[in-house]
Amino acid sequence: MIPYGQHHIDESDIQEVVNVLRHGDLTQGPKIKEFEKAIAEYVNVKYAVAVSSGTAALHLAAIAAGIDPEHHLITSPISFVASANAALYCGGKVIFSDINPDSINLCPNTLSNTLLKHNNVRAIIPVHFAGLPCDMQLIKSIADKHGVSVIEDAAHALGAKYENGDMVGSCVYSDATVFSFHPVKAIAAGEGGMVTTNDESLYRKILRLRSHGINKLDDPMEFPDQANEDGIPTPWYYEMQELGFNYRITDIECALALSQLKKLDKFLDRRRELVKKYNAAFSDLKNCRPAQTTSIEKSGHHLYVLRIDYKSLGVSRAELMRELKLNEIICQVHYIPIPAQPYYRKLGFNPEDYPNAYCYYQEALSIPLYYDLTDEQQIYIIDVFKKLLA
Ligand SMILES: *Cc1c(COP(=O)(O)O)cnc(C)c1O
Repeated sequence: MIPYGQHHIDESDIQEVVNVLRHGDLTQGPKIKEFEKAIAEYVNVKYAVAVSSGTAALHLAAIAAGIDPEHHLITSPISFVASANAALYCGGKVIFSDINPDSINLCPNTLSNTLLKHNNVRAIIPVHFAGLPCDMQLIKSIADKHGVSVIEDAAHALGAKYENGDMVGSCVYSDATVFSFHPVKAIAAGEGGMVTTNDESLYRKILRLRSHGINKLDDPMEFPDQANEDGIPTPWYYEMQELGFNYRITDIECALALSQLKKLDKFLDRRRELVKKYNAAFSDLKNCRPAQTTSIEKSGHHLYVLRIDYKSLGVSRAELMRELKLNEIICQVHYIPIPAQPYYRKLGFNPEDYPNAYCYYQEALSIPLYYDLTDEQQIYIIDVFKKLLA
């Protein structure tokens, strides 16, 4: 069976994890800081905090941005549910703003209108769908005009670059950027996430919230007389000053992620190569076209999505997927619009209120794209599609 996505683990990855198990700390050891430093250097940002998942990273970034029952956030209807759930975890509201049908990212014009229609928006979470960076320069200028924060959901976009060549994660257009190291993403930690930022106070807040809200670095004590006895620091003393979480990542996971990061550029090169071949193969088919075609050179190429006109093809998506499975090809749909989820419908959302997202969803199909996909497998996949779409 050929899956739609898959991680790649080699002997050096295994060795790095074994080294931690034999010699290292299992958690809160040196690998976490090492991984944070490596990511900060890779994306060219001042601060990075590694956490237990991309979802945890989004939650902490949303708290730090001030999302609460009075302050809401805007995100894309075409994303994984975690992008929107971040608002609800904070007790805030989520507002969806429709996508641009060519990029499958938040449409900046629609975003402007959405901001005009809603009061008390505190943050925007643009999602770099399938690794394709949003038009962040424009989104940042819109956000500035309305005085709202920007948190990039870059779970698909580690290694991607903006138009000007800056790395996604550098936060040149945002307050914070969030990554995920779930195995299906660019590099695997097992589970894991990261928040990057250039804002020191945001960094310090996220650092505290990751670990129960206990003060970190040289945060001032609220009861300094308890922290010292006759001018000598009392070694046991710490203060929990706000309600935080245990969102820590382990050294085991960071050792794996560090080892994977060394291979990221190699992973991306191969994905780019595969995407070029898919684009060439699918450019002149009837009833079918690549979902993202503009400025894809700088994408993280997390997914390869086709838009298929099932109606004119005369075959439903479910039938096509069954047929593909009989040919040992497993595809997936990214994503069911978040407002279509039962939980969100019960909150009063209706996916048809976001027509570009809704239309995209009717047609989308993610086909296999990952580092280990061989040329032979790709040629086979293209042949099967050409046969089934004929
Ligand atoms: C994977 C993903 C997340 C969540 O990351 P986890 O590490 O799985 O918690 C958030 N947003 C998007 C767009 C994702 O694809």
